[in-house]
Amino acid sequence: MVNKMKVVKFGGSSVANAEQISKIIEIVTADADRRIVVVSAPGKRSSDDTKVTDLLIALAHQVLGGADYEQALKDVVGRYAEIQVDLELSAEVVATIEADLRDRIENRGANELQFMDTMKASGEDNNAKVIAEAFTKAGHPAIYMNPGEAGMLLSDEFGNAEVLPESFEKLALLKDTDKIIIFPGFFGCTKAGDVATFPRGGSDITGAILAAAVKAEVYENFTDVDSVCAMDPRVIDNPPAIDCMTYREMRELAYAGFGVFHDEAIIPAVQHQIPICIKNTNNPSAPGTMVVPKRDPEHGSVVGISSADGFCAVYIDKYMMNREVGFGRRLLQILEDEEISYEHTPSGIDNMSVILRSAEMGSKEASVLERIRTELCPDNIQIEHGLSMIMVVGEGMHYTPGMAANATGAFREAGVNLEMINQGASEISMMFAVKDVDRVKAVQALGKAFFG
Ligand code: ASP
Repeated sequence: MVNKMKVVKFGGSSVANAEQISKIIEIVTADADRRIVVVSAPGKRSSDDTKVTDLLIALAHQVLGGADYEQALKDVVGRYAEIQVDLELSAEVVATIEADLRDRIENRGANELQFMDTMKASGEDNNAKVIAEAFTKAGHPAIYMNPGEAGMLLSDEFGNAEVLPESFEKLALLKDTDKIIIFPGFFGCTKAGDVATFPRGGSDITGAILAAAVKAEVYENFTDVDSVCAMDPRVIDNPPAIDCMTYREMRELAYAGFGVFHDEAIIPAVQHQIPICIKNTNNPSAPGTMVVPKRDPEHGSVVGISSADGFCAVYIDKYMMNREVGFGRRLLQILEDEEISYEHTPSGIDNMSVILRSAEMGSKEASVLERIRTELCPDNIQIEHGLSMIMVVGEGMHYTPGMAANATGAFREAGVNLEMINQGASEISMMFAVKDVDRVKAVQALGKAFFG
């Protein structure tokens, strides 16, 4: 039995039509270790196209609203029919998909959320069946794997389900299969036997769970970009590519511009220390970006710079704050009571600030400030909106003098006023707050300073 294996996930654009599916057959069969293949539902074939998942949601709404849903059903079936014709698969494939959708509709229960999940899940489920058939027809025997039967047990929070810990043991058995496994992403099964889906984009989660369960040598996540960029391409032209970064660096860079996948999606892979490789289905020979538990960074190097708008800072001053035991805890308790999460808490001897997303504060702002005034009796309290956070990240920054000077020098040259600086406790990041209007200018200046 072969024990080395790679779990490979293909997103919607990689399985959107026959041409893309032919590419993934080539990619998978080029490497004998690629044995578990997670697939999304067919995604967009062009920028103005509609994903099959969205067609399915529209269909489910028609059904629930009691409307005539025949056209909506045809729209979904049509996407698979096009793939079937182009891949020259048997016409029976499409008839089976149509019958499956009608069955899901006719046998729905009273729980609308559960019905919605059953319909959404059919996108990946039917695509996995089609793709398994396409592999086999191309001379590479592959089997479709039903997630529920394989042991992908999920909580019953429909549309937002989470994997149950007992799933991993059963899913680990998949490593003993000698054929290529085509595993539909995005859904699993509750203990009661109902189909439940992860949040949107959840095929990434399926891939990460499987990679963790079978202790894959790598989790390859195929998408439509060659690699993750060190900076947001909307802010800077042709940003450098990231060859390798650690999980910590990826998290520190989680602000805008790094949207290849949602970092929460890969938690299972991170917890089990499985390296992740982001690769391009349309250019598989490009090395992609590795995300690893540890790496040996070049001294003084920066891996990436990310930024996002829409933050606010609450500044609080109180004479002798440092002697007031519990001040910080009580301040953060107020936020906790109001269910507000925060991002950073830079502080001085007699002052503390909390940086958070303005949207988190929303309509709670007046009551939060009032509670701080009455419960903490500060000398002064202010809130400033319209701030941007900029993160400069790199394991190589650790123990390197002059990194902050480089950054602040860049700001000075660009004429950007710094509202706040915070060096992450981990010493692998520096955070700068600037006014929203200065963000692009500031990031461009930092790009020049660190990447030339
Ligand atoms: N098809 C699902 C979605 O569009 C899940 C995925 O593609 O990851 O959200």
